[in-house]
Amino acid sequence: MADSIFVTRSSMPDLQEYVDEIKEIWDSHWLTNMGPKHKRLQSELKEYLGVEQLDMFTNGHMGLELSLQALGLPKGSEVITTPFTFASTTHAIVRNGLTPVFCDIDSSDFTMDTEKIEALVTDRTTAMLPVHVYGNLCNIEEMDRISRKYGLKIIYDAAHSFGEAYKDKGIGGYGDVSCFSFHATKVFHSIEGGAVCFHDDDFGKELYRLKNFGIKNEEIIDGVGANAKLNEFCAAMGICNLRHIEEEILKRKAVVERYRFHLDRIEGLQLNPIQENVKSNYAYFPVVFHEKLFGASRNEVYEALAADGINARKYFYPLTSSFQCFHGKFDTNQTPVAVHISKRVLTLPLYADLALADVDRICDIILGLQR
Ligand SMILES: *Cc1c(COP(=O)(O)O)cnc(C)c1O
Repeated sequence: MADSIFVTRSSMPDLQEYVDEIKEIWDSHWLTNMGPKHKRLQSELKEYLGVEQLDMFTNGHMGLELSLQALGLPKGSEVITTPFTFASTTHAIVRNGLTPVFCDIDSSDFTMDTEKIEALVTDRTTAMLPVHVYGNLCNIEEMDRISRKYGLKIIYDAAHSFGEAYKDKGIGGYGDVSCFSFHATKVFHSIEGGAVCFHDDDFGKELYRLKNFGIKNEEIIDGVGANAKLNEFCAAMGICNLRHIEEEILKRKAVVERYRFHLDRIEGLQLNPIQENVKSNYAYFPVVFHEKLFGASRNEVYEALAADGINARKYFYPLTSSFQCFHGKFDTNQTPVAVHISKRVLTLPLYADLALADVDRICDIILGLQR
């Protein structure tokens, strides 16, 4: 049997390129606390992402969690969000003492359904936390309109949308706050890491202090902060990976196009939509298996691939609203589309170095199950 194929594989610079990058860290003994590598990555990211303000964190989750804290939303207030996401999104809300209110998703692009948001707004609602899931962008204009109408903050979980643009503007520039993840499995990574883009200077200062224990200066600590600083070795990995990001995205595009060549227009298979005015990063390749039309269920496809050493993932199943830690707190009947999709979706392997011959083999296995 061929080697196992995982759903993703971290991209790596040449070893020598990384060694050259960390040489200065050895010489300077400056390992963390916003050193030269941190500063350099920060300014390169601002330029690449086309945003004016950006701070970096030890991981994407802490960026999200501290952003919610820095906004100062009243405890117990409600944040309208999606259950069709990674654990981090919902946990960031709950760990801030805020209440997630789950909105259903759009069946075609899997993002929060903007037509269902307004019915969920109450006098306790203070913010919305939508996700550009799989790199599919939310309906930004509608989000903006709703945010203005009800005076709600928008925090985008942009963990899947590094490098994407909407109408030629970097995606990090939308909303009050946008949070990226630089986890090893993401399109761009710094081993672990994350960034938050924002517009408001005071928010930025508060966010910076929260990632550094609430320290204002040597003698004044006026906030109960955490520690979420990105270290120099991670920043160095980010600097190396950013040099190659465009070619990485192009290689992903070739993989996605090969999948589409095989799986487009197959009855009962639903693929990601191609969104207008969007520069895509080809982050994920989800397929929704409509069993009655296709002939095989998501779980059957998952098992058939696994039997051949191919590890697809059931992203996002289960919904965060049905996690054991929230048992009895949320009613998933409120988000029927999210329930429906999460039972049928499978994310296929996708990374820059995935061989097109392997894509062919994966598609052969899937299409062999068609009845
Ligand atoms: C990866 C991810 C995060 C969290 O990022 P980390 O860097 O792993 O902490 C948050 N939200 C979504 C949707 C993600 O996929």
